[in-house]
Amino acid sequence: MRVLMIAPPGAGKGTQGALIAAHFGIPHIATGELLRDHVARRTDLGLAVQEYLDRGELVPDQVVLDMVREALVAAKAAGGGYVLDGIPRNMQQARAAYQIARELGMIADVALHLDADDAEVIRRLLARAALEHRSDDTAEVIAQRLVLYHQLTAPIIGWYRDRGILVSVDAMRPAQEVGRDILTALEEMWPLLDHGPEPRGRPVDLTTLGEAFGATEPGRASG
Ligand code: ADP
Repeated sequence: MRVLMIAPPGAGKGTQGALIAAHFGIPHIATGELLRDHVARRTDLGLAVQEYLDRGELVPDQVVLDMVREALVAAKAAGGGYVLDGIPRNMQQARAAYQIARELGMIADVALHLDADDAEVIRRLLARAALEHRSDDTAEVIAQRLVLYHQLTAPIIGWYRDRGILVSVDAMRPAQEVGRDILTALEEMWPLLDHGPEPRGRPVDLTTLGEAFGATEPGRASG
Protein backbone atom coordinates (compact mmCIF):
# COMPACT_ATOMS: atom_id res chain seq x y z
CA MET A 1 0.00 0.00 0.00
CA ARG A 2 1.39 3.37 -1.04
CA VAL A 3 -0.36 6.40 0.40
CA LEU A 4 0.37 10.09 0.53
CA MET A 5 -1.55 12.46 2.76
CA ILE A 6 -2.72 16.01 2.09
CA ALA A 7 -4.17 17.86 5.05
CA PRO A 8 -4.01 21.17 6.85
CA PRO A 9 -1.85 21.33 9.97
CA GLY A 10 -3.75 19.83 12.89
CA ALA A 11 -6.05 17.61 10.81
CA GLY A 12 -4.38 14.44 12.11
CA LYS A 13 -1.79 13.44 9.51
CA GLY A 14 0.63 12.22 12.18
CA THR A 15 -1.98 10.19 14.06
CA GLN A 16 -3.63 8.66 10.99
CA GLY A 17 -0.29 8.16 9.22
CA ALA A 18 0.93 6.08 12.16
CA LEU A 19 -2.31 4.06 12.11
CA ILE A 20 -2.04 3.31 8.38
CA ALA A 21 1.62 2.37 8.79
CA ALA A 22 0.85 -0.03 11.64
CA HIS A 23 -2.12 -1.55 9.82
CA PHE A 24 -0.26 -2.28 6.60
CA GLY A 25 3.18 -2.83 8.15
CA ILE A 26 4.75 -0.06 6.06
CA PRO A 27 7.08 2.83 6.94
CA HIS A 28 5.57 6.18 7.97
CA ILE A 29 7.64 8.90 6.34
CA ALA A 30 6.80 12.22 8.02
CA THR A 31 8.78 15.15 6.63
CA GLY A 32 8.01 17.43 9.61
CA GLU A 33 9.23 14.74 12.03
CA LEU A 34 12.40 14.18 10.01
CA LEU A 35 13.09 17.93 9.95
CA ARG A 36 12.39 18.37 13.68
CA ASP A 37 14.72 15.47 14.39
CA HIS A 38 17.50 17.26 12.49
CA VAL A 39 16.79 20.44 14.46
CA ALA A 40 16.90 18.54 17.77
CA ARG A 41 20.21 16.88 16.84
CA ARG A 42 21.60 20.22 15.64
CA THR A 43 22.84 18.74 12.38
CA ASP A 44 23.92 21.14 9.59
CA LEU A 45 20.59 20.51 7.90
CA GLY A 46 18.77 21.12 11.19
CA LEU A 47 20.53 24.43 11.76
CA ALA A 48 19.73 25.46 8.18
CA VAL A 49 15.99 24.71 8.43
CA GLN A 50 15.21 25.72 12.02
CA GLU A 51 14.15 29.26 11.13
CA TYR A 52 11.73 28.07 8.47
CA LEU A 53 10.05 25.72 10.93
CA ASP A 54 9.88 28.36 13.67
CA ARG A 55 8.23 30.82 11.28
CA GLY A 56 5.83 28.28 9.75
CA GLU A 57 7.44 28.72 6.30
CA LEU A 58 8.14 25.89 3.89
CA VAL A 59 11.76 24.75 3.86
CA PRO A 60 13.31 24.76 0.36
CA ASP A 61 11.82 22.03 -1.84
CA GLN A 62 15.16 20.38 -2.58
CA VAL A 63 15.90 19.77 1.11
CA VAL A 64 12.65 17.87 1.58
CA LEU A 65 12.86 16.07 -1.75
CA ASP A 66 16.35 14.74 -0.96
CA MET A 67 15.13 13.49 2.40
CA VAL A 68 12.10 11.84 0.85
CA ARG A 69 14.11 10.17 -1.90
CA GLU A 70 16.37 8.62 0.72
CA ALA A 71 13.38 7.46 2.77
CA LEU A 72 11.66 5.98 -0.30
CA VAL A 73 14.80 4.05 -1.25
CA ALA A 74 14.76 2.55 2.25
CA ALA A 75 11.02 1.86 1.96
CA LYS A 76 11.62 0.05 -1.32
CA ALA A 77 14.16 -2.22 0.36
CA ALA A 78 11.63 -2.84 3.14
CA GLY A 79 8.93 -4.10 0.74
CA GLY A 80 7.80 -1.09 -1.31
CA GLY A 81 4.89 0.28 0.71
CA TYR A 82 4.84 3.64 2.45
CA VAL A 83 2.71 6.35 3.92
CA LEU A 84 3.99 9.84 3.15
CA ASP A 85 3.03 12.55 5.62
CA GLY A 86 3.89 16.19 4.97
CA ILE A 87 4.75 16.08 1.30
CA PRO A 88 3.76 17.29 -1.24
CA ARG A 89 3.06 20.79 0.01
CA ASN A 90 3.05 22.62 -3.29
CA MET A 91 2.65 21.74 -6.96
CA GLN A 92 6.41 21.62 -7.64
CA GLN A 93 6.83 19.07 -4.82
CA ALA A 94 3.87 17.07 -6.14
CA ARG A 95 5.49 16.81 -9.59
CA ALA A 96 8.97 16.10 -8.21
CA ALA A 97 7.69 13.48 -5.74
CA TYR A 98 5.82 11.83 -8.61
CA GLN A 99 9.03 11.70 -10.69
CA ILE A 100 11.03 10.23 -7.80
CA ALA A 101 8.35 7.64 -7.11
CA ARG A 102 8.14 6.77 -10.80
CA GLU A 103 11.91 6.29 -11.03
CA LEU A 104 11.73 3.93 -8.06
CA GLY A 105 8.62 2.14 -9.34
CA MET A 106 6.69 3.32 -6.29
CA ILE A 107 3.96 5.69 -7.50
CA ALA A 108 1.32 6.39 -4.84
CA ASP A 109 -1.86 4.31 -5.02
CA VAL A 110 -3.89 6.74 -2.96
CA ALA A 111 -3.81 10.45 -2.16
CA LEU A 112 -5.62 10.72 1.15
CA HIS A 113 -7.12 14.11 1.91
CA LEU A 114 -8.02 14.78 5.54
CA ASP A 115 -10.63 17.49 5.42
CA ALA A 116 -10.98 19.85 8.40
CA ASP A 117 -11.85 23.52 8.66
CA ASP A 118 -9.62 26.26 10.01
CA ALA A 119 -11.49 26.83 13.27
CA GLU A 120 -11.22 23.13 14.20
CA VAL A 121 -7.53 22.76 13.36
CA ILE A 122 -6.68 25.98 15.21
CA ARG A 123 -8.52 24.66 18.26
CA ARG A 124 -6.62 21.36 18.10
CA LEU A 125 -3.22 22.93 17.55
CA LEU A 126 -3.66 25.34 20.46
CA ALA A 127 -4.74 22.38 22.65
CA ARG A 128 -1.62 20.51 21.55
CA ALA A 129 0.54 23.55 22.29
CA ALA A 130 -0.48 23.29 25.92
CA LEU A 131 0.86 19.72 26.08
CA GLU A 132 3.80 19.71 23.69
CA HIS A 133 6.23 22.46 23.02
CA ARG A 134 6.48 22.61 19.28
CA SER A 135 7.98 25.96 18.37
CA ASP A 136 5.41 26.40 15.58
CA ASP A 137 2.22 25.86 17.61
CA THR A 138 1.65 29.51 18.48
CA ALA A 139 -1.40 31.43 17.24
CA GLU A 140 0.69 33.54 14.91
CA VAL A 141 2.68 30.69 13.35
CA ILE A 142 -0.43 28.48 13.07
CA ALA A 143 -2.09 31.27 11.07
CA GLN A 144 0.92 31.41 8.75
CA ARG A 145 0.91 27.60 8.24
CA LEU A 146 -2.78 27.76 7.36
CA VAL A 147 -2.22 30.56 4.85
CA LEU A 148 0.41 28.44 3.09
CA TYR A 149 -1.84 25.39 3.20
CA HIS A 150 -4.69 27.20 1.46
CA GLN A 151 -2.44 29.02 -0.98
CA LEU A 152 -0.04 26.25 -2.01
CA THR A 153 -1.12 22.83 -0.72
CA ALA A 154 -4.91 22.66 -1.10
CA PRO A 155 -4.74 23.38 -4.86
CA ILE A 156 -2.86 20.09 -5.38
CA ILE A 157 -5.94 18.12 -4.31
CA GLY A 158 -7.53 18.63 -7.74
CA TRP A 159 -4.47 17.14 -9.41
CA TYR A 160 -4.95 13.88 -7.52
CA ARG A 161 -8.69 13.96 -8.17
CA ASP A 162 -7.95 14.20 -11.91
CA ARG A 163 -5.55 11.27 -11.63
CA GLY A 164 -8.33 9.24 -9.98
CA ILE A 165 -6.43 8.43 -6.79
CA LEU A 166 -8.04 10.91 -4.38
CA VAL A 167 -9.77 9.68 -1.23
CA SER A 168 -11.24 12.46 0.90
CA VAL A 169 -12.21 11.83 4.51
CA ASP A 170 -14.06 14.09 6.94
CA ALA A 171 -11.41 14.64 9.63
CA MET A 172 -13.61 16.82 11.86
CA ARG A 173 -14.68 13.77 13.88
CA PRO A 174 -12.89 11.92 16.70
CA ALA A 175 -9.61 10.29 15.61
CA GLN A 176 -10.98 6.75 16.10
CA GLU A 177 -13.87 7.33 13.71
CA VAL A 178 -11.64 8.97 11.12
CA GLY A 179 -9.16 6.10 11.43
CA ARG A 180 -11.84 3.48 10.96
CA ASP A 181 -13.10 5.21 7.80
CA ILE A 182 -9.59 5.50 6.38
CA LEU A 183 -8.77 1.83 6.93
CA THR A 184 -12.12 0.78 5.46
CA ALA A 185 -11.53 2.93 2.37
CA LEU A 186 -7.98 1.62 1.90
CA GLU A 187 -9.07 -2.00 2.38
CA GLU A 188 -11.79 -1.53 -0.24
CA MET A 189 -9.21 -0.23 -2.69
CA TRP A 190 -6.82 -3.09 -2.07
CA PRO A 191 -8.20 -5.47 -4.72
CA LEU A 192 -8.00 -2.70 -7.32
CA LEU A 193 -4.32 -2.01 -6.73
CA ASP A 194 -1.31 -3.45 -8.39
CA HIS A 195 0.11 -4.18 -4.97
CA GLY A 196 3.59 -5.18 -4.03
CA PRO A 197 4.71 -8.00 -1.81
CA GLU A 198 3.65 -6.52 1.50
CA PRO A 199 0.93 -8.48 3.24
CA ARG A 200 -2.67 -7.36 3.37
CA GLY A 201 -3.55 -5.18 6.34
CA ARG A 202 -3.76 -6.70 9.75
CA PRO A 203 -6.10 -5.65 12.52
CA VAL A 204 -4.87 -2.84 14.71
CA ASP A 205 -6.30 -1.64 17.96
CA LEU A 206 -8.27 1.49 17.13
CA THR A 207 -8.86 2.19 20.80
CA THR A 208 -5.27 3.41 21.00
CA LEU A 209 -6.33 6.42 18.95
CA GLY A 210 -7.33 9.24 21.29
CA GLU A 211 -10.69 10.94 21.09
CA ALA A 212 -9.13 14.20 19.98
CA PHE A 213 -5.83 15.96 19.74
CA GLY A 214 -3.84 15.88 22.92
CA ALA A 215 -5.57 12.72 24.09
CA THR A 216 -3.05 10.46 22.37
CA GLU A 217 0.60 10.09 23.21
CA PRO A 218 2.25 13.38 22.23
CA GLY A 219 4.48 11.95 19.49
CA ARG A 220 1.46 10.63 17.66
CA ALA A 221 -0.53 13.82 17.73
CA SER A 222 1.57 15.84 15.31
CA GLY A 223 0.38 17.15 11.98
P1 ADP B 1 2.01 20.66 10.10
O1 ADP B 1 1.36 19.96 8.97
O2 ADP B 1 1.23 20.61 11.37
O3 ADP B 1 2.46 22.05 9.78
P2 ADP B 1 4.51 19.10 9.82
O4 ADP B 1 5.19 18.37 10.92
O5 ADP B 1 4.04 18.33 8.65
O6 ADP B 1 3.32 19.88 10.53
O7 ADP B 1 5.48 20.26 9.26
C1 ADP B 1 6.11 21.16 10.13
C2 ADP B 1 6.98 22.13 9.35
O8 ADP B 1 8.01 21.39 8.66
C3 ADP B 1 6.31 22.93 8.25
O9 ADP B 1 5.67 24.10 8.75
C4 ADP B 1 7.49 23.27 7.34
O10 ADP B 1 8.27 24.32 7.88
C5 ADP B 1 8.30 22.00 7.40
N1 ADP B 1 7.95 21.05 6.33
C6 ADP B 1 7.42 19.81 6.49
N2 ADP B 1 7.21 19.21 5.31
C7 ADP B 1 7.61 20.09 4.37
C8 ADP B 1 7.62 20.09 2.94
N3 ADP B 1 7.18 19.05 2.23
N4 ADP B 1 8.11 21.17 2.30
C9 ADP B 1 8.56 22.23 2.96
N5 ADP B 1 8.55 22.32 4.31
C10 ADP B 1 8.08 21.27 5.01
